Amino acid sequence: MAIGTFRGGIHPYDGKELSRHTRIRTVVPHSDIVVFPLKQHMGRPAVPVVAPGDPVLTGQRIAKADGEFSADLHASVSGVVTAIRDFHVAGGGTERSIIIRNDGRFSEIPYPEPRRFEELTDAVIIRAVKQAGIVGMGGAGLPSHIKLSPEHPEQIDYVIANCVECEPYMTSDYRRMVENPGKLINGLRIVLKVFPRARGILAIDEQLRDVIRELRSITRDDPRIYVKRVQTKYPQGSERQLIYAVTGRTLNGKMLPSDIGCIVHNVDTLVAVNQAVMLYEPLLTRLITVSGDCVAKPGNFRVRIGMSYDELIERAGGFVREPALILDGGTMTGRRIRDLHVPVTKMSSQIVALSRDRAEVMRETACSRCARCVEACPNHLVPIQLLRDAERQNEDAFITHNGLECCQCQSCSYICPSKLPLSLRITEMRESIVSRPEKAGDYSRRLFG
Ligand code: SF4
Ligand code: SF4
Repeated sequence: MAIGTFRGGIHPYDGKELSRHTRIRTVVPHSDIVVFPLKQHMGRPAVPVVAPGDPVLTGQRIAKADGEFSADLHASVSGVVTAIRDFHVAGGGTERSIIIRNDGRFSEIPYPEPRRFEELTDAVIIRAVKQAGIVGMGGAGLPSHIKLSPEHPEQIDYVIANCVECEPYMTSDYRRMVENPGKLINGLRIVLKVFPRARGILAIDEQLRDVIRELRSITRDDPRIYVKRVQTKYPQGSERQLIYAVTGRTLNGKMLPSDIGCIVHNVDTLVAVNQAVMLYEPLLTRLITVSGDCVAKPGNFRVRIGMSYDELIERAGGFVREPALILDGGTMTGRRIRDLHVPVTKMSSQIVALSRDRAEVMRETACSRCARCVEACPNHLVPIQLLRDAERQNEDAFITHNGLECCQCQSCSYICPSKLPLSLRITEMRESIVSRPEKAGDYSRRLFG
């Protein structure tokens, strides 16, 4: 079968050899204080259902969703609520957060007996995913039950498991597929139950031959699921590029994948769906890659939500040299963080700490008109033109030049020999326009549904 791909893209150094071969380590917070920001998803902050002084158990709901794009939040430790107040978060600034004094016992709520998903109705499956507070773990934090409830479920042809993991340094999905392939496949089967006409595709990087073999072997007798290899390239895991590579269907920035008959879920999201539907488990942990040349023992960690980044880095052996750059996320789409005393959230995915040798120093020079940014753009845009539009604050020209189609992959900035801030300026202008539905029209759908 042909290997799927898309036009454009880049091949950055991926650093995956640092953490790919170490088993997932489960770590629990030893710290007294565990912090739960009320906004760990796309929509409005959740509303606390506990108050200072309340005892809580691991797995207990501590905040309820406020509106369609919001999500329930559960305690990942047992202890006592000490405060509800603003706390620093990795994305910058502060968020209102529930603070729990961790008693270190991790006493759990009682869970019902495991059940078989085959016997459940679609409504029960969707409710279980909603009640578990699961959000997409690929980045945007869209509550996962929304993807399970499109307007026309009978028009969904493909449920795609995004097993590509193209972000440099990140290897948590790879480890998940090596260590728990059954949970991933079962999560995909649960989602397929909601879409009876759909086929399941496990879309995976062509180089991961061991995993491809194993996933093919597990799904050999399942006529609804197949494994599709895709080229090693960035941003192959981006929704638009992935859908095109595996189905040939084209998505633009105004559309949702369900508009073209597709649903895409990340590996860890499907595992969380499996745990919620079969075992009633709420989302309490995240798989996080901690890597970079400054980290003593790079690896993948199953981390309780609410544990602080600095405690997680300690479990990875701390730093062997002073990092010049620490990123929340990968080297392509991550954001610089300076304060590590911030909590792991449902949207955390990796921490990368790089020395001066690895962290490139940006020295901007004039555009040489080499057109490499144009060749790299996976959405067929002209980034240098969009940069000029953004610098002139010319929103109409930016829209005419299709700037709203940018998916913020940063390929243009990576490839630019003049180190121009292409992606940064394009993203700033795009976000400013998309936040105003009267200006952006259907492009605001991805933000407001
Ligand atoms: S213009 Fe946008 S979509 Fe195109 S390469 Fe740059 S960041 Fe990616
Ligand atoms: S890659 Fe950089 S230098 Fe080359 S055309 Fe684009 S903006 Fe100019």
